[in-house]
Amino acid sequence: MKIICVGRNYVEHAKELSNPIPKKPLIFFKPDTSVLRNNKDFYHPEFSENIHYECELVLRISREGKFIEEKFVDSYIDGIGLGIDFTARDIQSEAKKKGHPWTLAKGFNDAAPVSEFLPPEEFPDLGNVNFTCSINGEQRQKGHTGDMIFAVPYLISYITQFITIKKGDLIFTGTPEGVGQVHVGDHIEASLEGKKLLDFHVK
Ligand code: MG
Repeated sequence: MKIICVGRNYVEHAKELSNPIPKKPLIFFKPDTSVLRNNKDFYHPEFSENIHYECELVLRISREGKFIEEKFVDSYIDGIGLGIDFTARDIQSEAKKKGHPWTLAKGFNDAAPVSEFLPPEEFPDLGNVNFTCSINGEQRQKGHTGDMIFAVPYLISYITQFITIKKGDLIFTGTPEGVGQVHVGDHIEASLEGKKLLDFHVK
């Protein structure tokens, strides 16, 4: 399976990192080895001084497809969950300066904690979903999918013009504003429509 991620999909988050507002979706990958499930502890890697959390709505893909039209996108999703797009911001900043890929900044081991997945039937409108992320009990991110620059149907349609999606693939849909650094000892919690799905510690 693969993890397809969307960067800068919320205006306020693009601004907080002084990035331009994209005209097309910005797409990158994480390898399957970055997945961290079951709310296991995240061990802060030693190669970075500045790991950021980015809480995101995550879609789980139900079947193979390419060139998917927006109106058919729903039939390719069998789970809605939350994930953290952990980012080694210091390594990413170096890469950005040099025009290099973000692979190591985004794709290191355990850089993609994901929650359990809820049935899509619970989310009749993917453009109207709320999620929150808190660190040590303090809310830091509050996302509403209606604020996405590129909505879910467009994203999947766009991605599958280039890349075939397969059963079990995950799509990270971008983070709202409020990202920040994590530290050893932090407690990360994230809720989807008020239901707590992510609840783990940084060790
Ligand atoms: Mg992200």
